[in-house]
Amino acid sequence: MAVLPIVEVPDPRLKLISTPVEGVDDDTRALIADMFDTMYDANGIGLAAIQIGVPKRVLVMDLQEEEDEEGKPIRAPRVFINPEILDPADERSLYNEGCLSVPDQYAEVERPKRCRVKWLDEDGKAHEEAFEGLLAVCIQHEMDHLNGIVFLDHLSRLKRQMIMKKLDKQRRAAA
Ligand SMILES: [Zn+2]
Repeated sequence: MAVLPIVEVPDPRLKLISTPVEGVDDDTRALIADMFDTMYDANGIGLAAIQIGVPKRVLVMDLQEEEDEEGKPIRAPRVFINPEILDPADERSLYNEGCLSVPDQYAEVERPKRCRVKWLDEDGKAHEEAFEGLLAVCIQHEMDHLNGIVFLDHLSRLKRQMIMKKLDKQRRAAA
C-alpha cells in the first residue's frame, strides 16, 4: 500500500480510455488499496485508477458524509470495478465539482440528477443500485475519468481556459 503521485491536467494520460478488469484478483485489490491511500491522503472523495496512472476501469469513493462524536468524518469506502451507468434521469442538477487532477479549482457542472449503476466489488461480486445526490454526481464524475473525460470538458472553452490559467499561476507560485 502506498500514497502515489496524482496525475494532473493537462497530462495526456487523463484522456485515455481505461480498459475493463478481466478478473478481480490480488493485483486488483493491491491497486484499490493504493487508490484509497492516495485518495485519503489528498482529502478527496473519489479517485479513478487513471489518476494514479493505471488505465483500468476501477474507481474508489468515500463521501464521508457522517461524523463521529468528535466531529471526525466516518469512513465509508466504496469500490466500483467495471462500473456502468444505466438509465440516467432526464432531470438534471448542478453541482460545484472539483477534482484531484485539477487541484483547488471548482466549477458548476450539470449532470443527470439520478442514475442506476452496475458494478463489481473487490470480491468480483456484481451489484446494481440507484444513486442520487452527491453519490450520483461523484460516480458520474469518476466514470468520466474512465472514458478520458475530466469535469473541465463539460465547461465552455472560455471557462476551461480561465481555470487552466489559474492553475498555471498557482503552480508557478508554488514552484
Ligand atoms: Zn476527478
